[in-house]
Amino acid sequence: MAEERRPSAIGQALLAIGDQWTLLILQRAFLLHVRRFGDWRDELGMSESVLAGRLKELVAGGLLSPSPYREGGRTRTEYLLTERALELWSLLVEIWSWEQRWVPRRVGLPELMHDGCGNRTDVELGCASCGEAPVSARDTDTRRSEDTFARVAVPRHHRRTVRSDDGDPLSYLPETFELLGDRWSTVILAAALLGLRRFAEFEAELGVAPSVLSSRLRRFTELGVLATDESGGGRPAYRLTEKGRSFFGVFTLAIDWAQRWYAAPPGTDLIITHRTCGKTFRPQLRCRACGDPLARTDVHFILTDRRLPHPRPGDARERVPDGPGADEAEPAGGSR
Ligand SMILES: [Zn+2]
Ligand SMILES: [Zn+2]
Repeated sequence: MAEERRPSAIGQALLAIGDQWTLLILQRAFLLHVRRFGDWRDELGMSESVLAGRLKELVAGGLLSPSPYREGGRTRTEYLLTERALELWSLLVEIWSWEQRWVPRRVGLPELMHDGCGNRTDVELGCASCGEAPVSARDTDTRRSEDTFARVAVPRHHRRTVRSDDGDPLSYLPETFELLGDRWSTVILAAALLGLRRFAEFEAELGVAPSVLSSRLRRFTELGVLATDESGGGRPAYRLTEKGRSFFGVFTLAIDWAQRWYAAPPGTDLIITHRTCGKTFRPQLRCRACGDPLARTDVHFILTDRRLPHPRPGDARERVPDGPGADEAEPAGGSR
């Protein structure tokens, strides 16, 4: 892709993961160690053609790595999470935390266990540079470049809405999907987190069509992520609610991941600074129970009331469901 057309790091990351099916495929790979075509198909109820397309994109994007295995005398392919994909664990845990806090549902989400302290816990966002926690959007300054937004909103070749089922304890992303599963939604939310308030500001800075902007702002208001403020006269200002502001954790983890894994063309940087220490903000998840920074292999979700994929002969990485702890999954980040 020509330099002048290449999207910013955030744009490239959204191309890689800003899709509802893609996020669900990755989530099942992390939580249930799904890595075979038929297991994703059965788990998610996806059509084979859509699944095949997404797997191809995930391989091309460096998030899944195909690996042959033998079964019944035939060679088949399974897909393993790459290093780049494994680093998304903290983003998925933060999404869980935000959904748990803000999105009411019929069936509770799986609980998170910190193996280091033995507590069922939640996470809070800290600064890896200075160790302070919690850190919120208000503790940071953000500097964007001229083209930070202009290079995010490249057209997407497909967009699908996945029906969410809040009776399924793993279907924990419904509202996050609305905020992240569509590029315009993401960029409008990012702009709101960076301080844009007025319709005309969003329109001018993002280059978004007024009809698209109206529909996204209306939806964010319905979701309680934005609230309108009519006090200024004329068109209302849009302010982030507490729910909207607390999406900062997901936002900043996504930016951090994107900027580490995707090369950004000049003029598209987005730099978030932690005011307390003056350094670039490096988001880090901490355990709310003991305060320790968390690593991928320190935490796991407790998956009760839910079937794990059937273990297969010769597949030592699947835990056989018997004995104590059988109803608990392995670390949230999966095993390799
Ligand atoms: Zn700091
Ligand atoms: Zn802990």
